[in-house]
Amino acid sequence: MAIKKNTASMRMTSLYAPTLKEDPAEAELASHRLLLRAGFIRKQASGLYSYLPLAWRSLKKIEAIVRDEMDGAGAQELMLPIMVDAELWRESGRHDAYGPELMRFDDRHGREFVLGPTHEETITDLVKNELKSYKQLPVNLYQIQSKFRDEIRPRFGLMRSREFIMKDGYSFDATQEGLQASYDAMKDAYARICERCGIHALPVVADSGQIGGDTSVEFMALADAGEASLVYCDACGFAADDEAASTRVPVTEGAGAGALEKAHTPGMGTIEQVAAFFGLPENGTRKSLALVAEDGTRVVAIVPGDHELNDVKAEHLFGEYHLMSDEELEQAGLHKGFIGPVGLPAGIRLVCDESLRESTSWTCGANEVDYHFTGACPGRDFEVDEWADLITVVAGDPCPHCGRPLAGARGIEVSQVFQLGTKYSEAMGATFMDEDGREKPLIMGCYGVGISRTLTAAVEQHNDEHGIVWPVSIAPFEVAIIPLDPKKEPCAGVAERLFDELVAAGIETVMDDRDERPGVKFADNDLMGFPYQIILGRRGLERGVVELKDRATGEREDVPVEEVAAKVAALVEAARA
Ligand code: ATP
Ligand code: MG
Repeated sequence: MAIKKNTASMRMTSLYAPTLKEDPAEAELASHRLLLRAGFIRKQASGLYSYLPLAWRSLKKIEAIVRDEMDGAGAQELMLPIMVDAELWRESGRHDAYGPELMRFDDRHGREFVLGPTHEETITDLVKNELKSYKQLPVNLYQIQSKFRDEIRPRFGLMRSREFIMKDGYSFDATQEGLQASYDAMKDAYARICERCGIHALPVVADSGQIGGDTSVEFMALADAGEASLVYCDACGFAADDEAASTRVPVTEGAGAGALEKAHTPGMGTIEQVAAFFGLPENGTRKSLALVAEDGTRVVAIVPGDHELNDVKAEHLFGEYHLMSDEELEQAGLHKGFIGPVGLPAGIRLVCDESLRESTSWTCGANEVDYHFTGACPGRDFEVDEWADLITVVAGDPCPHCGRPLAGARGIEVSQVFQLGTKYSEAMGATFMDEDGREKPLIMGCYGVGISRTLTAAVEQHNDEHGIVWPVSIAPFEVAIIPLDPKKEPCAGVAERLFDELVAAGIETVMDDRDERPGVKFADNDLMGFPYQIILGRRGLERGVVELKDRATGEREDVPVEEVAAKVAALVEAARA
C-alpha cells in the first residue's frame, strides 16, 4: 500500500521554525540576519549551519531547478564519496597547492583523506579506466553534495561557510570544439538557473581564452553585500570583475607646449598635488610605481594619474612582486613621489599602461627630488620597454566592447563555469583513444553552483524592512493562510476549507493556526516571506470576503471566499519557475 503523505502543507503549530525577536548580533548581512531570525538556519559552530525545515524546503527547490536544467542539458546525476583519498590529490598536484583550506584527516590505518572541497580528482579517477574511446564522448556528470572548505574567514552565514551545498559537474570531451559546446550548454543552463531562482545575476568573464572567447564565467548576483567588485555595460551586456576587465581609458595630455621642461615642484609628491599645481585633471598626470618583480628585476610601472595599478594584472606580468620599500627605492636611485620615465637609473625596466600609448606630452616625476617634467614624450625623451594592461577599471571608464561608460556594482558569485582542458586528465593519466588511433588526455570542463549560497543570495536580493520576500519558485511555502480567530467559527471552518482546496490544487500552503495576536501573526508571516497571504478576519467574513496580500508589493485586496483559492492558485502557477 502506498504511504499517504502530504508534503505540500503544514500547520504552523507543528512547524519547527524557531523565530527570534531580536536581531542576532553576529549577523552583518540582511540575508544572514533574516535567515536566523525567521527560523531557517541555526549556527552549529563557526561556518557550520543546520538547515531547518523551511530552509531545507527552499534548498530542495533550488536543487530541483538545478536538476531540471542539468538533466535537460544532457548531464547525468551521480554521487561520489565526500571523503577523498589524499593520494589522488597528490597525483593532481593540488595536495600542497590547495593549502590549509583543505580539510585533511587520517583514518585508523594512518591513511590520509580529505573532505572534498570540489571533486575534479575523484571524477577523473572514476572515468579514467572507463572512458577509453572517443565513441563514448561527450559525457557530462554531476552531483549535489556537501562540500568542505576550511575558509580562513567563514562569514555571512551561508554565504561563506565551511560546509556548504554545491552542485558540481564535469564534462569530458574528445575535442576542444566539443568542450566548447559542453561549456556553452552549461553556461546557458546556469543563466536559466539564476533566472528561475529569481536571482538577478550577470555572467562575468573570469578568464579570456587566447582566441578571445571566454573560458570561464562567474555568475554574479548583484547585491551591495557582494564581495566582488564589478563593472558592466547596460548597453551591450559586457560585464567583468574590475580586476579582470581590460580597457583603455581616455587620458589628458599634460602641461606645457610639448617640449621637455623641468618644473620645480617642492614637496609635491602626490598626484593630487601635482594635478593642482599644473592645473590638470588627475588623468593629465602620470602615476609611477616602483616595484621588484618575482625574478628580482626592478620595474617602474606607469599608469594614468586617476587610475590604480591592478594587483592581479601586475602579478600576471611580474609574478609575486612587491612595491619597493624606502630602502629599496634608495638603493635603486629613485625618489618617492618624484619617480618618472625620463632618466631612469640603469637596469630598471619601464612598463607603461596601454592607455598612455598615444599620449605624447606627459607630466611626470623627474627622478629628482622636488622636480617634475612636463612635455615628456615616449620614443623621444625615453624608451618604454613594454606597453601593458595595468590598471583597475572603474565605473565611468569606457566599455571595452562598445565604448559607452561602464557602471559599477557589487556581486555575489553564485556559480561558475570553467574550461579545465587537460589539467587533471594529463596529471592523472585519464586518456582515451581518438578517431585517429592516438591516445589523448580527456578534455574537461567543470561547473559549480553554490546551492546554499544561492539561497542566501536570493534573500539578499529579496527582502524589506519586514523580512524575507521569497520568489515564488524557491519559497518554502507559496501561500500562508492566516485565520485571525482560529478557534472560532466561521473563521476556523473557512480556513480549513481553503486549506483543503489549496492543497488539493497542489499549492504549497502553510496554515497559521497558532493562537496568537494578529500583530504577531502578521509579523511572523512577513518575516518568513511567504509570497501570498490569505488573511481571514471576522468583519470580512461577515461580508463573505478574505484579504489577499501580495508579500512582494504589499498590496491587499478583498476577494470573495469562494474565489480566493482559485485566484491564488493561478497567481502561484504563473509565477512558478
Ligand atoms: P569564492 O571565490 O567565493 O571563495 P570559489 O570561486 O572558490 O568561491 P568555486 O570553487 O567556484 O568557489 O565553487 C563553486 C561555487 O560554490 C561558487 O560559485 C560558490 O557559489 C560556492 N561556494 C564556494 N565556496 C563557498 C563557501 N565557502 N560557502 C558557500 N558557498 C561556496
Ligand atoms: Mg568560483
